[in-house]
Amino acid sequence: MKRNFVITITILLCIVVLLVIKTKEPKEMTIKSNTININQEIFTNEELKWINEHKNRDINVGVAQDYIPIEYIDKDGNPSGMGIEIIKLISELTGLRFKMYKNSAKETWDEILRSTSEKRIDILPAVAQTKNRLKYLEFSEHYIEMTQVILGHKDNQKLVNGIAEVNKKSFVVPRGYWVIDGILKENPNAEIIQVENMEEALKYVSNKKTDYTICETPVFTCYREEGTTKNIKIVGELKEKNKIHMAVRKEYSELIPIINKVIESINYNELYEKALIMPKNNLNEKKLIFIILILTLIVLILIYYRYTTFRKLVIAKKEAEDANRHKTSLMTNISHDLRTPITVIMGYAQAIIDGNVKSEEDKEKYIRRIYEKTKYLNELVDDFFLLSRLEDGKLILVKEEVNINNFVKSIVEDTAFKAEPQNIELSLKLDEKVEIYKKVDRIKLYRAIENIIINAVKYTEENGSIEISTVLEDDKVKISIKDNGIGIQKEDITHIFDRYYKGKNARKESIGLGLYIAKEIIHKHNGEIWLESEYKKGSTFYILI
Ligand code: ADP
Repeated sequence: MKRNFVITITILLCIVVLLVIKTKEPKEMTIKSNTININQEIFTNEELKWINEHKNRDINVGVAQDYIPIEYIDKDGNPSGMGIEIIKLISELTGLRFKMYKNSAKETWDEILRSTSEKRIDILPAVAQTKNRLKYLEFSEHYIEMTQVILGHKDNQKLVNGIAEVNKKSFVVPRGYWVIDGILKENPNAEIIQVENMEEALKYVSNKKTDYTICETPVFTCYREEGTTKNIKIVGELKEKNKIHMAVRKEYSELIPIINKVIESINYNELYEKALIMPKNNLNEKKLIFIILILTLIVLILIYYRYTTFRKLVIAKKEAEDANRHKTSLMTNISHDLRTPITVIMGYAQAIIDGNVKSEEDKEKYIRRIYEKTKYLNELVDDFFLLSRLEDGKLILVKEEVNINNFVKSIVEDTAFKAEPQNIELSLKLDEKVEIYKKVDRIKLYRAIENIIINAVKYTEENGSIEISTVLEDDKVKISIKDNGIGIQKEDITHIFDRYYKGKNARKESIGLGLYIAKEIIHKHNGEIWLESEYKKGSTFYILI
């Protein structure tokens, strides 16, 4: 139970972790518009031919993760931003199929550029033109031009007039960001620190780890809305504006005039607005939910452990008390059961010692009684010994292969003398079709069957009859002991195998242990024991072993 609980908690934790990781991962994006509207008038025949030839293949798109609002992955893992809106438009007008290239869960811009130069990515929706990139990319017209600002910590930055003015200061920029070349061109002394993305760069400045970063105004505005730029202010402006283009690798150069026609046809304001239906970066929210979940789970685990420990203590205490009470009542029972025969023995012995028994014949009678009572005492002590072993769970079976028919026969022969004084007929009906062999503890099983046969004798009137039979049922043997004695009353039947239970018909010397011991021994052999009885007509006890 405890183990299961721990496993469940661990699985839950894993699911939560996986969910959090999963939501961060970009989804597969296939852009294929439902409303394809190929405009024959915009495109030339050659362009339409190229479009038709390339319609059924995926064009891999490299998407920057957090260049908001130009290009980013939104909170649901979908690629978004102005560049993506243009891609959607191209797909709508041409029927071309675009697919987001996904190499790792969170790709850096640097990795995207590398994948493009290595021909895994075919098109970049938002990219600035640099000398180096011209080696492997063809650029469209630019579709947005953005002012670039220098950002510094709000506490201690003077206004600067361009990068050249900033002397010996450190700049933090996303890896692969084109502005690195620009910074170094204008200020070769600048120290450049490259980080994974814009958000990280802003955090560096916010925490005063570096002096400056450079960012386009729309991008800065978006991050400001999210609260990432709390401690940051604009301290200067770059002379050059950042022009954003679409770019394809050389093999797709025919796509450039097509893209240019789409760019020409767009309504810039509409596009900007669409791109700015911005996701709130709910990463912090996710983190918070995650932490709350973890804390709740930890609290639950702690409560559970406290509760189980407490419960265990209560149960242990109760068990100890029960055991004590049980032992005391057992001792009382045992002392009482022993006292009766001992008193009788002492009485007879005293009479002989005192010389009250005169004739030899009486003396012999007294001694015989003493002997019988001592024998009975001996049997009682045996029962108590077995009982204590059973109570402690220490009854060990020593099994051996036994021929059941011969075994039952020997028990009947050994007990026959008990039936003689009342002239009770003991008969055997053995299933002798096959030899029945079973692995049993000979001594203990003897005791169990003997108890039942002796009971049958005890509770059968003079001249009655008892039939003991065996029958093979599948791979088990059923032993029945049937008497036509006084029978058992209905209300006694359900309790008859209980420890110390005596029926309403119980004889004077009855102590209620025989059937309990027999039942325990049979159960230890993985067997079954039950009875059928009709009051005043007789009883049949069954053992299946
Ligand atoms: P004990 O024989 O010491 O009384 P048992 O556990 O052997 O203890 O039997 C419990 C009770 O079951 C007896 O007191 C008696 O009432 C009833 N009983 C057992 N065997 C028979 C039987 N063959 N016929 C009628 N009653 C029986």
